[in-house]
Amino acid sequence: MKNELVKLIELSKIDAEIDAMAEAREELPSQIDKLQSQLNELENSLNEKKQELILWEKDKKTREQELTEKKDWIAKREGILKEIKTNKEYHAALKEVAQAKKAITDIESALLQLMGRIDERTKELADLEKEVIEKKPPIEEQIRGKKGQIGVLEQQVGDKTAERIQKEKELEEGLLKKYKTIKARLSPAVAPAGRGVCLECNMNIPPQLYLELQKFKQVISCPRCHRILYLET
Ligand SMILES: [Zn+2]
Repeated sequence: MKNELVKLIELSKIDAEIDAMAEAREELPSQIDKLQSQLNELENSLNEKKQELILWEKDKKTREQELTEKKDWIAKREGILKEIKTNKEYHAALKEVAQAKKAITDIESALLQLMGRIDERTKELADLEKEVIEKKPPIEEQIRGKKGQIGVLEQQVGDKTAERIQKEKELEEGLLKKYKTIKARLSPAVAPAGRGVCLECNMNIPPQLYLELQKFKQVISCPRCHRILYLET
């Protein structure tokens, strides 16, 4: 029985390794997604700010054009003021010119504000572009690394699984079946025992059972967690 137990513990160790590798493999895609969204965020923020700047520049052009048109209109209007015959029409024309001049002041102050924002944004974009250039390569490197890790882990799981199949063949059938039944519910399926205690669930093993365990005559299960017990050496 002692030999069988040794083989079973070896199998359990292989299983633990496979489980750990499979778990690490499982976690990688979401880690890659997280990195990818970091990349996207960086680029999206840069693009959004760029798009906004393009709109502001368009707006600037429109307003500049509007300004030129208004100024031309005033010049023409002032040019024909003296040709106006009636007082009423003259005052109406003066009022129109005054309104247009007020509109020009408004456009000019809006333009000034807009140019300030464009200046600020242009500087901000230069910094942001630098930041993206600095931050992108290490994130991309991490993504490549993690994708590589997936391949490596899958290869290792494959190798260990082959080793596991070999180990199973060396084991006595009844013991293997018992192990698999426990493993389906509970991992690990074996538990070391030491100082009279199951070291997986901390249950005190009754002294009689502990004596049996030390004899290596039969398979002993922990009365609480039902794992197959072995003496810790
Ligand atoms: Zn236990």
